[in-house]
Amino acid sequence: MSKIIVIGSSNTDMVIVSDRLPKPGETILGGQFLLNPGGKGANQAVAAAKLGGETHFVCKVGNDVFGEMARKQFIETGIHCEFVQTDFENPSGVALINVDAHGENCITVASGANGSLSKADIDNASILFEKENILLIQLEIPLASVWYAVEKAANAGMKVILNPAPAAQIPDHIYPHLFAITPNETEIELLTGITVTHLDDAKKAAKKLIEKGVPHVFITLGAQGAYYQSAHDELFVPTQAVKAVDTTAAGDCFNGALAVALSKQKTWLDAITFSCRAATYSVMHAGAQASMPKLSDL
Ligand code: ADP
Repeated sequence: MSKIIVIGSSNTDMVIVSDRLPKPGETILGGQFLLNPGGKGANQAVAAAKLGGETHFVCKVGNDVFGEMARKQFIETGIHCEFVQTDFENPSGVALINVDAHGENCITVASGANGSLSKADIDNASILFEKENILLIQLEIPLASVWYAVEKAANAGMKVILNPAPAAQIPDHIYPHLFAITPNETEIELLTGITVTHLDDAKKAAKKLIEKGVPHVFITLGAQGAYYQSAHDELFVPTQAVKAVDTTAAGDCFNGALAVALSKQKTWLDAITFSCRAATYSVMHAGAQASMPKLSDL
């Protein structure tokens, strides 16, 4: 089994659920408070570790209570934390989330230490950049560091999975370094200019990314399922119809599961089926990291 190296963000989500959202300048009493670990990098590392992947997480947290909580949680989940680095100048990343009784929200994020994850921090973790390992990375840390890590991993012969979230443009020279890319419908539209509503759109959009040099394209299609295309193959896996409780981090769960499947040399069909099953489990449960399944749950 290959090692999975996740490089990315760790945040603490501070959520207040109230009857309605406050107006500017207004104070509302009577809300319910929730403190949830989050951040796309951390969510994906937790998903991979819970599903049995040998997972190392490279990230940056502040020298504060949130950083300590995150590190403790990673260790309890079985994530290797030797490159969870402490930033002594910036606080841990935090998201302030207000949610009303209808599920409508407004969110502000202070990236904090995530914004200082530098090329030097990636070089600190050089020992993990070995041929047989897999890199799983997203776009929630400085993009210069993302492209640096992608090139470093590809040059070491690693398989790089890029989850292009949150949506941002990718420089053309990066695509040929990727082994797989995993956009959702919003992200693929930004990358290709194709609005994906039907499977035919997904096929056209995936082809565009393959022409840019990525050999394996996975498009997640929300409740519809997921689509895979390579130069020789294509697959569509529909999801089971389930009652969705909370779709937060469904894409993160899909990505963590995909890394685990590839680390175990599964076939493409097994990999996409496993990832969809894991992600569907996560939407049936509340929370981000709390909703990620263990292997035994599937
Ligand atoms: P993101 O969270 O990045 O927007 P998607 O919404 O595309 O990603 O969801 C990722 C995966 O989660 C999908 O491919 C699917 O397998 C699963 N999923 C998402 N929403 C649902 C749903 N309502 N019912 C069942 N599975 C879902």
